[in-house]
Amino acid sequence: PSRTPETTGGVVLELDDIGKHFGGEPVVSDLSLSVHDGEILTLLGPSGCGKTTTLRLIAGLEKPSAGQIRLDDNDVAGNGQFVPPEERGVGVVFQEFALFPHLTARENVAFGLQEWDDTERDARVEELLELVGLETHGDHLPDELSGGQQQRIALARSLAPEPEMLLLDEPFSNLDVDLRVEMREEVRRIIKETGVTAISVTHDQEEALSISDRVAVMNEGNIEQIDVPERVFQQPKSRFVAGFLGHASFLSGEVHGDHVTTSLGRVLRDDVNGLAHQYDGSEIDLLIRPDDVTAYPANDSEANGRVVYRRYLGPTVLYRVELDSGETIECMHNHSDRIKLDERVAVRVTADHELAWFPAGQRDR
Ligand code: ATP
Repeated sequence: PSRTPETTGGVVLELDDIGKHFGGEPVVSDLSLSVHDGEILTLLGPSGCGKTTTLRLIAGLEKPSAGQIRLDDNDVAGNGQFVPPEERGVGVVFQEFALFPHLTARENVAFGLQEWDDTERDARVEELLELVGLETHGDHLPDELSGGQQQRIALARSLAPEPEMLLLDEPFSNLDVDLRVEMREEVRRIIKETGVTAISVTHDQEEALSISDRVAVMNEGNIEQIDVPERVFQQPKSRFVAGFLGHASFLSGEVHGDHVTTSLGRVLRDDVNGLAHQYDGSEIDLLIRPDDVTAYPANDSEANGRVVYRRYLGPTVLYRVELDSGETIECMHNHSDRIKLDERVAVRVTADHELAWFPAGQRDR
C-alpha cells in the first residue's frame, strides 16, 4: 500500500527548471521534479545521463547553473540563495560507504551527533544500531564487518542526525549480487521505518523497480518519465523508457474498429492502453515484454515463427522467435525443456494487463 504516491505526504523537495553545465557542456537541462514526504524516489538512467549530478545538486555539493531548488518551502539554491550542504538537513550515503576506518561501528554512527547531549546521543546510537540489526556489533571496527554490515552502519550514520531527506548514490553497487538483493529489501524496510524521504540513484532497473515508490527515468540530463514502478514498466511513455526498463519487442499492428491486427493474430483494442476510436485505421507498434506472450511447439498449420535464440536463466528461459512476418519477438517461460532452438512455434499474446503502444515509425507518442 505504501507504493502509491497518493499514500505519501506533501511536497518536501522541488526542483524547478534546473540546469547544470560543466564548462559549457550541459549535463542537466530544464529538469523539474517534486518529491513527496516519506516517499522513496529513484533516479534511474544510463551512465552519464546526469543522475549523480542531480543528486549532488540536491545535496548542495553542486550549484545549479539555472533554476531553483526548494526544500520544505525554503529556497536552498537559485533566487540568489545558496544553502550549503551541512545546513540542508540532508544525509548522503555514497557508493563506497566511506566509514571512518579507525572508529568503531558505534563511533561511526555517533559521528554526526557531536552537538548532542551524551545521554541522548547514546540512546540515539543504540536505537540506530538496533534499527539496522547490528546492536551486538557496536564495538567492531569497519574492517571487522562484512560489506552488508558496513552498509548498514553507513546508513545508520546518515540517519542518526534525523535528516529531512536521505540521498543514496548507487548504494548497492559495491555489494555482490545475492547481498545486493537482500540489502535492497533491508534498506527499503529501514527507510520506511524511519519515515525519511529518500532519493536514490541507480542504473540498475531491477533495483529501481523493487526499492522505489516512484521511479524517474532519466535520459540526457532530463526526466523522460516519472511514475510508480508498475507504470513506468508497463506503460512507458517513450521507446527509450520501454527499452531501458527491460526486454522490449515491438509488434506492428493496424487498428480496425475494436481490434488490432498483428502477425500474432487479433488483439482487442480494449486491451491496449489508451487506444481510442480515433486511431481506427492507424498503424501502431505494440510493446511486448517477454512475459506478455506465450510460445509453444506447433505444427506447420499453426506455427507462426521459429526459435532463433534460447538462453537458460535458471528459473526462466528467454527465447527469441523470428516470426514469419519477419518481426522478432522475445518470450520468457518458466519451463525449460519444452521448446528447442530452431523449433517451429506458435506465439500468442497472453498478457494479463493492458499493452502499451507507440505510433508506427515515430519515436514517441
Ligand atoms: P554514472 O551512472 O556513470 O555515474 P550519471 O548519470 O550519474 O552517470 P553524472 O555523474 O551526473 O552522470 O555525469 C553526467 C555527465 O557530467 C558526465 O558526462 C560527466 O562526465 C559530467 N560531469 C560530472 N561531473 C563533472 C564535473 N565536476 N566536471 C565536468 N564534468 C562533469
